[in-house]
Amino acid sequence: MLNMEGRILESNVKKMAEALKAGATMLEESCPQCSSPLFKLPSGEIYCLTCNRRVILVKSDEEALETGTPAALNLLEETLVKKLLELEQKIRVEEDTKNLQNHLNLTLSYLEALEKIRRIKR
Ligand SMILES: [Zn+2]
Repeated sequence: MLNMEGRILESNVKKMAEALKAGATMLEESCPQCSSPLFKLPSGEIYCLTCNRRVILVKSDEEALETGTPAALNLLEETLVKKLLELEQKIRVEEDTKNLQNHLNLTLSYLEALEKIRRIKR
C-alpha cells in the first residue's frame, strides 16, 4: 500500500514538473475531487494532473464571467431595447423642451449601456 502511494506521488511530481516546464502555472486552488494543486496550461485551460482531467473553476472571476454573464447581458440588452422603444414614443409626442432633454439624456445613457453590453458580448 505504501509502495503504491509512493509510486503515485512520484509520477504526479514528475507530471507537475513537466507541466511547469511546458509553461503551465500552479494555481492556489485545488482539485475538488482529489485536492491536488491545479495547473493552468498556456492555453488557459485548468487541469488536475492527478485526475488527468479538465477542471472548471466556477469561483474564479474569469469562469464566473464566462458562465454567468452572457445570460445577464442578454436579458439586460432586451430590457434596454424595450426601454428605448418606450422612450422613442415619449420623445415623439413630447413638446416641453425640458422633458425632451431629460428623455434624450436617458436615451443616451441607454445607448451607452447597450454599446458596452455588445462590446462585452463580442
Ligand atoms: Zn484531481
